[in-house]
Amino acid sequence: MGKTKLFEKTPNWMDQAACKGMNPELFFPKGAIPNKVKEVCGSCCVKSQCLEHSLKNNEIDGVWGGEGKDARRKIKRIRWNFTYGQIIKCRICESDFKTISPHHKICSEPCRQLAKSKRL
Ligand code: SF4
Ligand SMILES: [Zn+2]
Repeated sequence: MGKTKLFEKTPNWMDQAACKGMNPELFFPKGAIPNKVKEVCGSCCVKSQCLEHSLKNNEIDGVWGGEGKDARRKIKRIRWNFTYGQIIKCRICESDFKTISPHHKICSEPCRQLAKSKRL
C-alpha cells in the first residue's frame, strides 16, 4: 500500500511538533487545557504554524498552537473584524479591491485562475 490520503495531506511542520507521538486525546480535553499540554505547546517550535493551520481549516475542537476553542474563536473574530470590508491590494494584479474575508486576497475570478495556473 502506498501513502494514505491523510498522510499525503499532513503538512511538513507536523514532523517537528512537540506533541508528536503523544496521546492525541490529551489535546482534546473536555474542560480546561491540562498543564501538561500547556507545557508541551509552550515549548513547541511550530506553535504558530499549528495555530494558523487550525484557523485556516476551521478546526473547531482541540488545542492548536496552545490555544483552546474559545481563544481561537476570539482570534478569528478579531481578524475578521479587522479585515472585513477593507480595501486591499490584489496579490495578483495589484489593483485595489474590497475584501470580504481574511482569506480573500485575490480580486476576481480571472486573477484566481491566474494564481492557480502559476501556483502562486
Ligand atoms: S503547538 Fe501544541 S498541539 Fe500544536 S503542534 Fe505544537 S505541541 Fe502540538
Ligand atoms: Zn486582481
